[in-house]
Amino acid sequence: MNKKRTGGAFQWRCKVCGEEGFADEIPSHCDIRARELATISKRSKKWFEDFLDGLEWKFVSPADLSFRSEYFLIDNAKRLSSACQAGKEMERILNTLNAAIPDYFERYESRSDHLRVSSLKKPKEIKGKLREANKWRRKKFEVSKKRKKIPLNIELGHVFDEYFANVTKEIPAESSWKPGSKVEFESVELGLKVVGTTDLTFDGIPVEMKTRTNLNPNSSTWKTALRTNYLPQMAMYSYASGLDWMYLMIVSRENGEFSIIPIDCEPRMDLIRSQWIEVMNDPGLISEIERYRNS
Ligand SMILES: [Zn+2]
Repeated sequence: MNKKRTGGAFQWRCKVCGEEGFADEIPSHCDIRARELATISKRSKKWFEDFLDGLEWKFVSPADLSFRSEYFLIDNAKRLSSACQAGKEMERILNTLNAAIPDYFERYESRSDHLRVSSLKKPKEIKGKLREANKWRRKKFEVSKKRKKIPLNIELGHVFDEYFANVTKEIPAESSWKPGSKVEFESVELGLKVVGTTDLTFDGIPVEMKTRTNLNPNSSTWKTALRTNYLPQMAMYSYASGLDWMYLMIVSRENGEFSIIPIDCEPRMDLIRSQWIEVMNDPGLISEIERYRNS
């Protein structure tokens, strides 16, 4: 980035329009709070350069993964074949494009003045997220001078996200792969509208991208991540896009292997809706929702 540093203590980026700048506190831009940018540590940068050096990206068909889940739509020949087509095309893109190695990543900020799609994925945590959003409504975000050190695996996850964002910018116009888009999801059960951004799009279908240490998803941590993290978020993204399924792209941080799995989102959408109805029995939650909607 060639921007001149003009007095601001930290660097920010707008999630909506992509503008970047320096400031002393986190500004709002395009109606939402901008993200603070953190410099990628020398250690992570070196790790990533070594990782990319001579790397050949390799697509692994979801039918060849060692783990099966009832949510994988791999018995559906049409879905499996489109996932493989998406994978082969992404493999070619990754192996031919020269995307820039990132210098910055978006630092996770627990303070938030609005709910996002991700805020609704764990029904038991919605009240806490609303309380937080209501607390920070129209308040300035001072940037704390004391920083917790970010663990290496978390930072590397961010580096991959940034790298794939750079890849997205370089996708040839004729490709069926496109950047992700902003989606709006409405939960009738909670009476709330939330926004989110999908990572990528293939042939009009949203794609959620996640990095993991390796592609052998036989571990319990993978199953937990799929169940508690990926599925609810993907259910909302797919329904916001008028679909009951979408793709999950898993990328190995170990060897450049990746897979693209068509995921059935309907059962999870049904489950999360019933969980939302259940949490609405809490009058405390209802009053936080009222406060949020009226502020
Ligand atoms: Zn903006």
